[in-house]
Amino acid sequence: MKYLDEFSDPELARRLLDDIHQTATRPWAMMEVCGGQTHSIIRHGLDQLLPEGIELIHGPGCPVCVTPLEMIDKALEIASRPDVIFCSFGDMLRVPGSDRDLFRVKSDGGDVRVVYSPMDALEIARANPDKEVVFFGIGFETTAPPNAMTVHQAHRLGIENFSLLVSHVRVPPAIEAIMTSPGCRVQAFLAAGHVCTVMGTDEYPDLAERFGVPIVVTGFEPLDILEGIRRTVHQLEEGRHELENAYPRAVQRSGNPTAIAMLDDVFEVVDRSWRGIGMIPASGWRLSEKYRAYDAEHRFSVTGIDTHESTVCRSGEVLQGLIKPHECEAFGTLCTPRNPLGATMVSSEGACAAYYLYRRLETPTLRPGAAAPKEVTSVG
Ligand code: SF4
Repeated sequence: MKYLDEFSDPELARRLLDDIHQTATRPWAMMEVCGGQTHSIIRHGLDQLLPEGIELIHGPGCPVCVTPLEMIDKALEIASRPDVIFCSFGDMLRVPGSDRDLFRVKSDGGDVRVVYSPMDALEIARANPDKEVVFFGIGFETTAPPNAMTVHQAHRLGIENFSLLVSHVRVPPAIEAIMTSPGCRVQAFLAAGHVCTVMGTDEYPDLAERFGVPIVVTGFEPLDILEGIRRTVHQLEEGRHELENAYPRAVQRSGNPTAIAMLDDVFEVVDRSWRGIGMIPASGWRLSEKYRAYDAEHRFSVTGIDTHESTVCRSGEVLQGLIKPHECEAFGTLCTPRNPLGATMVSSEGACAAYYLYRRLETPTLRPGAAAPKEVTSVG
């Protein structure tokens, strides 16, 4: 299949791996930022083909996973209201809040709907003028532009019963937070190719320079990732720390100017809290003053949220790359995709879900004493 088979070619993969093996002379730790890259790495076993000592640390680039618990609880509160139709992508319905999830709200009679585009939610608002329609807008620079476009359209069309519950986050401030966190082991980054497709690469050379880390913009297919790793290892071995674009078929330095203009019009940069990590300055967006009337937090004034994190779940440590998912005691036993204790086991981009899908049978070996899971399922 075009663009898939050609980036999974075993002979080319072998050549890239040979280069990596010949180049690496000592241990290096690099972080793949995006959860989609994590899934590709684990699914194809790429980490197991690397020289011993080359470690891939899984980063916090799963949008569902980093959405703060307080925001999940606000979504649950808003979705429970009888006058509300609450729309979301499917992954969010199973993310545990403090005491329930959106599926529970739906089973209790709430009008919670899975949509495939924020524009579907706008259409629902147009068709239901007597209801308040809320779309749960989460994610990185990749999902922010269509959500911004939807608010722009609502404003243009005068659809006033639509609002956005916003929890958008930005990658570059997260890289800065990771590099300044105590005990940081990250020596290089594989930057998320799709984020750079939207935003371009101008924010990265300064980060590479300030923290002395190579940053290589990397795609998602096996050869894309191996090429990103190959270039990163070369930089590390040569003592360089530069921005490189290993995904030129999708990424241009200037990004997508139309999407960036839409983001600039609809959103403004704010400090955001990341689940499992905490507050990161200037790491997110909220609706700008011009569009504040479409902000669900503003419209519904949800206050008095008292959050309760699971005492078992270690997803914060997983998201910061401090532990691998199978090192969590609950992995594959108390916590599975069917009964997730944390968002990293729910999301199709979560590291715990990736290890459960592709590594769970190895877990007893990786973590002696753990029972092999009996359940076989998949994330939705
Ligand atoms: S395996 Fe489950 S409980 Fe453990 S960190 Fe992952 S999501 Fe949390």
